[in-house]
Amino acid sequence: MSLAHPKFSYEKGLHQIGNGAYAWLQPDGGWGWSNSGLIVDSDQSLVVDTLFDVPLTQTMLAAYADAEPAANTVNNVINTHHNGDHCNGNCCCPDAEIIAHKLTAEHMQAEPPSLVQGFLDAAPGLGELGNYLTSCFGPFDFKSVDQRLPDRLIEEETTIKLGDKDIHLIPVGPAHTPGDTLVHVPADRTSIRAIFYSLAAIQSFGKGRCKTGLTHAIALSLWMSRRLFPVMAPSPPKPALKKCVIIW
Ligand SMILES: [Zn+2]
Repeated sequence: MSLAHPKFSYEKGLHQIGNGAYAWLQPDGGWGWSNSGLIVDSDQSLVVDTLFDVPLTQTMLAAYADAEPAANTVNNVINTHHNGDHCNGNCCCPDAEIIAHKLTAEHMQAEPPSLVQGFLDAAPGLGELGNYLTSCFGPFDFKSVDQRLPDRLIEEETTIKLGDKDIHLIPVGPAHTPGDTLVHVPADRTSIRAIFYSLAAIQSFGKGRCKTGLTHAIALSLWMSRRLFPVMAPSPPKPALKKCVIIW
């Protein structure tokens, strides 16, 4: 089943969303094959999530810089949550201020890239489990990662400036992880990672892997409906959300 709009194919690489926003997609979206977003305004750039290792992140950043000169130097990185496939590449953005929720930072410290590398090192002696770990994480280069933790922590909704754009950072955890944070760009009516968990949860539910997945999906969808598509306005408002980049 494809969940994508037919206009936007799920193909590896850079996808222009419009008005200085881009997505970087990595099919098939399995363990570690996460997505990322780029937002640009004037000479400023912001990356939403880095990737699982340094080579993958460097390839993505080169594509971002090719598309937008402002991305040659990334000003901000937002880590939407602590899983390594969303933050291991932070070290590739040495000039950026890294921003994340306080709980995201705490879990990043508790689960460094060396932890996964340790599982991989032990995998040959773990039988079937080891084979599974190697099939999931073997393609990634964790030894390339010099973990870089966030510079600035948030605990509640926060607005930062990127050029003239307001960037809303909206904590919604606990959902997929305790520190989950959405990135909403009202001027572009674009949200990055807004419904990642809904879809991930529905997929899990559909595969029978997560009994609570549908509950979480519905809860987050309702929250988004209230927040991004206000229904109490006297006249039908312009939807606050036109585009949504889904990251999981
Ligand atoms: Zn995750």
